[in-house]
Amino acid sequence: MRLQGKTALVTGAGRGIGRATALALAKAGAKVIAVARTQADLDDLAQEGGGRIEPWAADVRDAGLLMRIEAMRDLDILVNNAGGNRPKLMVDVDDETLDWMIDLNIRSVYRVARAAARAMGQGGVIVNMSSQMGHVGSPKRTVYCMTKHAVEGLTKAMAVELAPRGIRVVAIAPTFVMTPMTHGMFEDAEFRRFVYDMVPLNELPTPEDIAEGILFLVSPGARFITGDSLRVDGGWTAR
Ligand code: NAD
Repeated sequence: MRLQGKTALVTGAGRGIGRATALALAKAGAKVIAVARTQADLDDLAQEGGGRIEPWAADVRDAGLLMRIEAMRDLDILVNNAGGNRPKLMVDVDDETLDWMIDLNIRSVYRVARAAARAMGQGGVIVNMSSQMGHVGSPKRTVYCMTKHAVEGLTKAMAVELAPRGIRVVAIAPTFVMTPMTHGMFEDAEFRRFVYDMVPLNELPTPEDIAEGILFLVSPGARFITGDSLRVDGGWTAR
């Protein structure tokens, strides 16, 4: 129960990595505010969380959510996880896709981080969800790579600026994880082969593996880590 007495907020907690993270934080003793758009996902999560998870149905792009976060008096941990991808060749990316991804993966990540930093007072931890694509390039992922590199830059600059207030800011950078976001991609046999060939450990992490990384980053044992990015990528970016 190393997070006993702490309050954490996780965005995009309805499914995938966010859901696994909300459960892991609750299991470690934190009170968890789970933000997602779909009430049914939240109900399911709250039930599994055994009373430690408080569901907030909201879109991370909504100003109302930001005001609610800013008004918190007890926020210790933010897992700024919500994000998305629409893989396309660079030359085929339309402006609507470009705007959607910048809005969700950069603008909303920034606004939620800012709201949390305003709420935190003296001390806290912010984990921004990056990706291995925040460190390298890959085909059909120009916009995604651009947005995740932005998350890495945001993390470093926030870490420097907020350190005097005792707020650590870190990123986590997973390789491909089987979640609702990537499920469709893996139906393509050629893509599947490409991914496995790129990961030296030759398997994919589970959402729970990523949650373990986040658990470490927010726990007291990581008290001297800030401005860094933890790659949970099976060695993809080590090649
Ligand atoms: P997912 O699609 O399975 O889950 C994303 C969650 O975010 C869902 O609960 C979804 O409802 C929520 N969400 C999306 N838009 C939202 C919005 N506007 N407001 C509130 N919630 C919203 O995705 P995932 O694979 O778990 O991805 C979570 C994060 O991890 C994303 O930032 C993604 O870029 C990153 N990531 C994923 C992978 C992967 O392979 N799955 C790898 C590296 C990084």
